Amino acid sequence: MITATILCVEDNPQSRRLLRKFLSAWGYQVLEASDGLTALTVTAREMPDLILMDVNLPDISGLDVTRRLQASRTLSSIPIVALTANAMIGDREACLAAGCSGYLAKPVLKSDLLDAVELHLERAAQRNQQNSTSV
Ligand code: MN
Repeated sequence: MITATILCVEDNPQSRRLLRKFLSAWGYQVLEASDGLTALTVTAREMPDLILMDVNLPDISGLDVTRRLQASRTLSSIPIVALTANAMIGDREACLAAGCSGYLAKPVLKSDLLDAVELHLERAAQRNQQNSTSV
């Protein structure tokens, strides 16, 4: 397992509490944001290793947050896994088009969450290593 800091962007307090519970039990450091603008601020300030991004947020959507982070030179390398309710055909494509690295439909199974977190942290770590070894 990789020790990492994960930002959970989720407006539902109960879902946020569950995410925190699972992630900290797996040994991750957990940061939280309950709306999109807070997510942008916390990301810029804390530089998390991965973001779990609820798509439906009270202010700007999780996809808008993702697009803004993707437009930033310093923040675009942070992997974002979208979490979306009422999964519909096209959701996955919309999330990936916005710049998310992965996508999970709610309700999210614990095992799927862990798999996604590990996969995207691992990929990001490999990318960073490649970037530091190529001149
Ligand atoms: Mn929500």
